[in-house]
Amino acid sequence: MENQLSPEAMDVIKKARAVEAKLKSLGATQAIEEMPNPSNQSPLPTEPQVKPQQVKVNTGNLEEVKEYDTFVELTNLPSKGKFYSEPLKVQPMKVPDLILIQGIDDDNMTSRFTDIFARRIRGVSPLDIVLIDEYYISLWMRNATFPTYFFPHEGYTCNKCNFEVPSNMAEFGFNQIEVKTNLDTLIDAFEEKGFVEEELPISKQIIKIHPRRRIHLARAEQILKDNYYSKNIEPPEGTSELLHLISPIEFGPVSDLRKIFTYIQSDDFDPIDYVELIKICAKYILTEEVVVNFNCADPNCKEVTSISGYPFRHEIYVPINENKRSETSKD
Ligand SMILES: [Zn+2]
Repeated sequence: MENQLSPEAMDVIKKARAVEAKLKSLGATQAIEEMPNPSNQSPLPTEPQVKPQQVKVNTGNLEEVKEYDTFVELTNLPSKGKFYSEPLKVQPMKVPDLILIQGIDDDNMTSRFTDIFARRIRGVSPLDIVLIDEYYISLWMRNATFPTYFFPHEGYTCNKCNFEVPSNMAEFGFNQIEVKTNLDTLIDAFEEKGFVEEELPISKQIIKIHPRRRIHLARAEQILKDNYYSKNIEPPEGTSELLHLISPIEFGPVSDLRKIFTYIQSDDFDPIDYVELIKICAKYILTEEVVVNFNCADPNCKEVTSISGYPFRHEIYVPINENKRSETSKD
């Protein structure tokens, strides 16, 4: 089937791969271990399975549950809160959260952040968070937990004076982080129903596309894990990208991602519909890009240089050995 794809469709798949690569750099594409397998024919749950929990603090023999009242409403979310029914509130992390983060690896990243979000976020369930908000929330939490620590950076070159600003002069504060999204171009399409409907040209089947949430990511990763990784099989090239791309859709009356995934790769699915489906999915992907705005360290220049990309790294997320703000440094 791949050979039947037009160059245009291949471009769309490449675009989807780029989205995938970015997600991976955020550490956001690993399976959520406790995700149940989607059951046959059941509709997509609108609420994720994981409920917010209270913090369990082990106090000797007694296990006491503590609720902190320091939740802050996030008003600058990349999604502008458009996909939530309630305001999203967050609080700083506590030591048990930091310990979870210090033990993060590629396999447990998403599940651990789900645990942390469950404790520290109110108003929105962890798996209901749209993906364009996930990294921003985690950066906000880091800043709220460690307000006296900068975010480290490897350095950059000033746009104007070409000064190569070294790492030790390129630390930045949370207020220098900007998350750029394509929300403005897509919000009208999602606004009315919360999802988009499109018709496939040949079969006339109706496709519903939802904004991508953490639960869609989890479902796609669970299928990859069950079908390939648990058997030590590398998925065929493009499989992961395709699965992630179609993860937020419902196909006619079918919402089971496993069934949709099998069907669209089968001989029964029309090649033209296949190409159009991929285009539709790529068209409605919400994407985000983290940008850091630096003021040139040369006092005679002060040019603002915007640097794209700031991948998640757990070793700097918990700033144990570095980046304490000095008395004289910028605010
Ligand atoms: Zn400069």
